[in-house]
Amino acid sequence: MTASAPSASATDRVFNFSAGPAVLPESVLREVQEEFLCLPGAGASLLEISHRDKLFVEILHNAENTLRSLLGISDDYSVMFMQGGATLQFSAIAANLLRGTDKTAQYLLTGSWGKKAIKEAKKEGKVVTAYDSADTNYDRLPTAADYTCPDDAAYLYYCSNETIQGVQFGSEPECPASVPLVSDASSDFLCRPLPVDKYGLLYACAQKNAGPAGVSVVVMRKDLLDIADPNIPGYLHYKNHHDNDSEWNTPPTFAIYVLGKVARWLQNDIGGLAKMEELNREKSQSLYKIIDESNGFYKGHAQTDCRSLMNVTFNLPSEEMTAKFVSEAGSHRLAALKGHRSVGGIRASIYNAMPREGVQALGDFMTDFASRNSG
Ligand SMILES: *Cc1c(COP(=O)(O)O)cnc(C)c1O
Repeated sequence: MTASAPSASATDRVFNFSAGPAVLPESVLREVQEEFLCLPGAGASLLEISHRDKLFVEILHNAENTLRSLLGISDDYSVMFMQGGATLQFSAIAANLLRGTDKTAQYLLTGSWGKKAIKEAKKEGKVVTAYDSADTNYDRLPTAADYTCPDDAAYLYYCSNETIQGVQFGSEPECPASVPLVSDASSDFLCRPLPVDKYGLLYACAQKNAGPAGVSVVVMRKDLLDIADPNIPGYLHYKNHHDNDSEWNTPPTFAIYVLGKVARWLQNDIGGLAKMEELNREKSQSLYKIIDESNGFYKGHAQTDCRSLMNVTFNLPSEEMTAKFVSEAGSHRLAALKGHRSVGGIRASIYNAMPREGVQALGDFMTDFASRNSG
């Protein structure tokens, strides 16, 4: 080897507020690094072994079992690992539960991801937007009085946390018992305990709060597996994934391996999802408090009763000030804070793996920046 490029070290790591792919627990990254060249017992890297190798099958089963234990998922539900991101689920859900029926699928539209989900579902059947907060740029969520859902709907769909707008449901929306409740939980999966038995199906891509890009987790009530027309594309057919233990084709082995480690970190290091929720409340509240006490210098995007624990969105007095904030934050090692263009301003994504110290550093910077630039 000739002179090598300077290598980045762990001390070069910034506090990373990226919306996704996003921060991972440092201890998980270190474990992955240690095992990377040679997975214990395999004589090769995890990247190099078959998905049918018993070592990988065990990793997959352990990941599933840890998720089952964290969320209290019963045997009435299947847990599947799929590729295609959350975006493939927009199509898969409608292909399995709506295509070929004369039912309607009801959607609560509360942000950008819901809008994309509706667009795909419309290709499969009759879709009704039962609630839509576009008029207020998706800054709020419905109460039961704001929408209706017929008893014979194919399903009621919502997004538990709209990542771009930073609005999060505090609990499941009202849904008739006869209608499967479906949730896109991509950006708040594992941020708190969930009453899984209220759901027909819930899913999450991993790269926001649960692992690296490449895998999505689908938790589906088993009686819904048989509804789909078997002639839908094989990969979209949930039953194929369920019947083959997520090995109908080659699963994203590396992503499942890392997701399993993140789940174990939640279980062992954090102490479970109730504890995680407590930490997430503490972290997010410390930032919302600074916003609320800034005399209007920072303006939160979400209405206060639906503020997200995961994505804290706010605006500054001008675009110039926003650019200045992002740039100065960068020199304080606070990275990836620029908001999505549809909301503008700042988005601080403070997922499970964002340490308290990172939120504290951002909070201190916000307080200081406001005092130097307001009035
Ligand atoms: C990121 C995200 C998606 C899209 O995920 P992909 O894996 O890129 O398809 C969908 N829904 C929500 C809530 C998200 O945060």
